[in-house]
Amino acid sequence: MNPDEPEADETTPEEEEWQLYATAGYAAAEDPWDDLVEVEDDEDEEEEWFDGDDFETNGQTLDWDSPPCPAPLGIAHMIRLGTCNHCLHRVGGRRTEEIGEKGGASIRAEAFARDKELESYEAPDLCPLCENLFEDVDNIVERIVEQTGELGHGSLQVGVHVPKDLIQEEDRIRTRHAAPGSRPLKAAFLEAVQTGVSARMEGVEFVKERPDLMILIDCLTLRVDVDIRPVFIYGRYRKLDRGIPQTRWPCRACRGRAEGCEACEGTGLQYPDSVQDLIGEPFRLVLSAEDTSFHGMGREDIDVRCLGRGRPFVLEVKRPKVRRTDLEEVMEAVNSNATGKIEISDLRWTNRSEVSRIKETRAEKSYTIRFSVEEPPEESFIVDSITKLSGVTLEQQTPKRVSHRRADKNRKRKVVSIDNVLVEDNEVQFSVRCEAGTYVKELVHSDEGRTVPSVAGVLESPCEVIWLDVEDIHAD
Ligand SMILES: [Zn+2]
Ligand SMILES: [Zn+2]
Repeated sequence: MNPDEPEADETTPEEEEWQLYATAGYAAAEDPWDDLVEVEDDEDEEEEWFDGDDFETNGQTLDWDSPPCPAPLGIAHMIRLGTCNHCLHRVGGRRTEEIGEKGGASIRAEAFARDKELESYEAPDLCPLCENLFEDVDNIVERIVEQTGELGHGSLQVGVHVPKDLIQEEDRIRTRHAAPGSRPLKAAFLEAVQTGVSARMEGVEFVKERPDLMILIDCLTLRVDVDIRPVFIYGRYRKLDRGIPQTRWPCRACRGRAEGCEACEGTGLQYPDSVQDLIGEPFRLVLSAEDTSFHGMGREDIDVRCLGRGRPFVLEVKRPKVRRTDLEEVMEAVNSNATGKIEISDLRWTNRSEVSRIKETRAEKSYTIRFSVEEPPEESFIVDSITKLSGVTLEQQTPKRVSHRRADKNRKRKVVSIDNVLVEDNEVQFSVRCEAGTYVKELVHSDEGRTVPSVAGVLESPCEVIWLDVEDIHAD
C-alpha cells in the first residue's frame, strides 16, 4: 500500500480556469467579452448616427466646424448633439465644483445662461456619447452588491464590455469636439462603477490582477457576473481515529447524489466523516462559502492514523462571502467538534501557489506498524532480522490492491531506518522511517513476493498487518 503517495493533481491551473470562466455560459459565436482583447474590427456593421453636415435638429443645422470644448461654442455644440450631463462633464474640459452628473449639470446651466436659445433646443433622447449608459451605474452597482453580499474587504477587478459600434462612434465625436485629454467612455464608465461600489462596500481596493472578486459587466444586456475567488488556509491535521477518509467519499451505491439512498441513509456519503468536512464545514459556515476542496501533502489510508506533528494540508474555501476570520477561533471549534477524531494546528492564511507546493513535496515519513506472524521464530532472531532491514533499498512492484488504478511498475524505495522492534507472543511492532512513496504494509507482508526484501521474507513466515500509524511527515 502507499499511504503517502501524493494523488494525481486534479487542480486546474489558474490561468486555464480564468479561460473557462471568461467563456463560460456564452455561445461561442457571440462572446460579449471579446473586446477585452484587441480584435481587428471587420467594420461590417458600422452604423452612423451623425452624418456630418446634414445632421439637423429642430430645423437647425448643426455646426460641425465649431471649436472643440472647452470653448463655449464647443460646449453648445455638445449640448445640441444631446450629450448627457455625465458626458458633458467628462468631455467639457471645465473645472466644476462637483463631478459626474452634477458637474455636467452646472456646465449646462452656464451654457444656458450664455445662450437662452440653447435651452429650447430639442436634443435627441439618447446621449450620442454613451447611449445613456451612465444612468445605469446605480443599477449595476446594486447588482454587484446583491451578488457579493457583505464582503468586509477585498480586492476587486472590474471588466466592462461596451458594444463596439458605440465605442467607435463615441471616439469619433470625442476626438473632434471634446476638450483635449477627455476620458474615453469605457474608462470613465469603469470609474463611475468603481466609485459607486466604493461608496457601498467598505475598504475595497481595485486591482488589475489576482483580485478577490472578478466582476464582468455587459453594457448591452446589463448582465453582471461576479466571480468570487477562493480563500486558502494552511494547517496540519492529526487523525486520531481509524475509519475516516481524508476527503469526502461519495456513496458507492448512489454515487453521492444529493438526496442519497437507502445504503447511505440519505447522506450521499460512504463514510459519515472525512478529514475534509471535519475541518472544512466549520470554515465553510463561518466564511459563508459554497464548498471546499482539500489538498493534503499525500494521504493516509482510511484505517491509518496520522499522529506526531500531523500532516500539512491546504483547505480551499470556494465562493466565500466573508474572506477573513479569526483562525484560532475556528481551530478551537474544529477541535472541540471533532474530539477523538481529528485535531488541527499551525493554521495560517495562504494562497493557491501553496497548493502545488503541498502536492509536490515528497517527504520522508515515519511509521509505527504492528502485525502478527503465523509461525514466529525466536524473539532475538525476529529483532535481528527486522533491524537488518534498516538502510536497505526495496524493490516494490505496484501492489495488487492498487493495480486497477495505477500502472504496473517496479520502483526502488529506501528504508531509512528501523528501530524499537517489540515482540509480544506472535505479534510484532516496530518503527520505520522511509522514503516518500514507500508501500509500508507491503514491506511487512511482501504482497506475495512483489516487495523484496520484506519482513515476511526474512522471518520465513506469513505476516498480517494489524494496524499502522503515521508518526511524522518530515516536511515543513
Ligand atoms: Zn452620455
Ligand atoms: Zn447512497
